[in-house]
Order: sequence, then structure tokens, then C-alpha cells
Amino acid sequence: MDLNLAADIAGRTPFYLYDFAAVRHRVAELRAALPDGVLLHYAIKANPMPALVQRLAPLVDGLDVASHGELLTALGTAVDREQISFAGPGKRDPELAAAIAAGVVVNVESGDELARLRRIETAVGRSARFALRVNPDFQLSGSGMTMGGGATQFGIDAEAVGEVLRGPGRRGLCGLHIFAGSQNLRLDALTTGVSQTFELADRLVREHRLDLAHVNIGGGLGIPYFPRDEALDLAAYGRHLAVEVERWRRRHPDTAVVLELGRYLVGEAGVFVSRVVERKHSRGETFLVVDGGMHHHLAASGNFGQVVRRNYPVSAVTAKPADERETVTVVGPLCTPLDTLGRRVELPRCEVGDLVVVHQSGAYGPTASPVHFLGHPAPVEVLL
Ligand SMILES: *Cc1c(COP(=O)(O)O)cnc(C)c1O
Repeated sequence: MDLNLAADIAGRTPFYLYDFAAVRHRVAELRAALPDGVLLHYAIKANPMPALVQRLAPLVDGLDVASHGELLTALGTAVDREQISFAGPGKRDPELAAAIAAGVVVNVESGDELARLRRIETAVGRSARFALRVNPDFQLSGSGMTMGGGATQFGIDAEAVGEVLRGPGRRGLCGLHIFAGSQNLRLDALTTGVSQTFELADRLVREHRLDLAHVNIGGGLGIPYFPRDEALDLAAYGRHLAVEVERWRRRHPDTAVVLELGRYLVGEAGVFVSRVVERKHSRGETFLVVDGGMHHHLAASGNFGQVVRRNYPVSAVTAKPADERETVTVVGPLCTPLDTLGRRVELPRCEVGDLVVVHQSGAYGPTASPVHFLGHPAPVEVLL
């Protein structure tokens, strides 16, 4: 897409542009690589734009939500309610009531939450369907963000599952949810994680004699953000998964396998576009001051849990053909040095009014950013 045309469509800068053809292509690639029958869920929090979720819904088998707001977005799609699951620590009573009333699967994160679910079931007058989110007894290496293993607020410790089930009972239990980490680009770590996840699920099913409709093995497939990142070998991941799924099916023919992915479906399909407001020189360095910043795109500024700040891929669209390239630092309009979108990046020479483009921006964008900080307008989101 011509980004000048996109800017006209957006009406103002900064804006996010999501290319749905790229999302569709990614889902098709996944379907081709994954073993038949594995259910593909979309974790809405990666990009909850309602129009995007609407268009993605018919291409996936289910949706995973993490709040009441996301639940309402998911309920607005045609996805089967039994394929909508609600995860996350600290679910409030009204959220649990909404999930039960809507007939979606609650991924229970603790014994206390299960006890509350039982009470609310009675109040709502409907049986809950739930899965146990299990905090695995292994840790996944290579994850940009670890979500399990060790002590964590997520899920029920694997060794405590028996105790939790002894309490209020297992009526309505339909699945297990084991999510070990996200943003993983290491094939060896991911495949080891898949094997350990199936092994744990198998152990729990046997030990506690569980009768499950599904086991959700998480996902965590990463996308390359930085120059030295190598894209995941999806075919090799798929081959490994096929072996494990085959073994699982021999032992548990009635328990479906679910893979839940967020950024892998949408992250590479989006760009964040802002306009140069000023060229500024300071002590031998050139700064491009643009109208978008960390308040619109926290992750690209390196402040979304990153340990080391590295530049997202950045490019430019100049009004006049620019033969000359230069090294610049791209900064937003906030009064903090944290508001940096690209440090010492090489770009074609940009003038005031030209567009600076941050790539790999389709996931964890506006809704993962402090949009109210300093009171600037929120970014526009365009889905084409
Ligand atoms: C955030 C989250 C995801 C999605 O993570 P990605 O890295 O975007 O794939 C999946 N499952 C759960 C439980 C999550 O909290």
C-alpha cells in the first residue's frame, strides 16, 4: 500500500495501518504447516481492534480473551462460544458472571477463583465450563516473556492441581491450559516446550483421571523484531508438533489440541506511521522529531518489558526522491528521553512533512501504550 494514500485515508498522523491480506496469508501458512485437526485460536490482546477481530474470526477456530471488554468483542463474532476462552489473573466476580452467562470457557487461574466460580454459577443459574490453567513445572528457555515455571501469578501450580480439584469438584471441567512463554524464536526451545507441555498434560490427565474436551498448549511463536533475529522455521515447528500430536491422539483420542497465538498472526501485518515535525541538530547529531511516540507505540520505544533497548525496523517515505542517506535518531514529542522510536538509524534524508514508518507493529500497539500520557490525541487505526 502506498503510505501517502494511507495517510490520506487515516486523515491525520500518526496512524497504524494493518494489512489484512498479510494476516490472511499468515493464517494460511500456519494451516499448511500445522498438523490437521489442531485448533488455532487468536489471543485478542495482541490486537483487539474490533474490525480486525471480526475479519480474523472466520479464519481461526477460537478466540482467547483476557478481560470483559475483550469478551464483548469476541461475543460479537460468529465464533462458537465453546471456542472462546477467558484467561487472566484477578478476574472480578462480574467478569466471571459474564463468562458463565455467555457460556464461554473460563481458564481458572487459582483454587480461589474456582471457588468463586462455583458461587457465581449458583447466582447466575447456569453451569460454568472451565479449564484449569496450569503453571508448568518446567521453564521455557528463549522466551521474550516467561509466563510460567517457577513462582508466578498465572495458573495453578502443576503439583497443586489435585488439591484444587478435591475442593469444589470437577463438574464443568473441560480442558487444560498450559502457556509457558511468548515471543520465542528458538526452534529448539519451542519444540522442547511442546514436548514438555504434552508430557505434563498427559501426566495430569492420568494422575487425576481427567476427561477433557481440549488441551490448550499455548503457543508463544515469536516474530523477528531486530536485525539479528531470524524468523522461525515454521515447517520444522509443524513437523515436531505433528509427532507430538500423533502421540497425544493415540493416548487421548477425544481431547482436541489447541494452539493460541497472538503476535504471530498479526504482528508483521502492521506499520506505525508518523510525520516529521522538525529536523533538529544537537552536538553533531541529527534528530527527526516526529508526531508519534512512545505514548502511541510503547513497544517500539523499548519500554514494553525489554531489557535492552533495540530499534524496531524503521524506514521512511520522502516527498522528494532522496539519494542521500543519513544516520538520525527518531524521537517523539514527549518530554522524556524514553520517547525514542529509533536510535541512530540509517534513513534516506527526511524533510519536515515526510513519513517515518515503524515496521512489525501489528501487535501490542495502541492498546499496549500509555495513550493518555501528556494528553496528545490517540493514534488512528486503519485496517485495509
Ligand atoms: C498474551 C497471551 C497470548 C499471546 O501471546 P503472543 O506472544 O502475542 O502470541 C497467548 N496466551 C495467553 C494466555 C496470553 O496471556
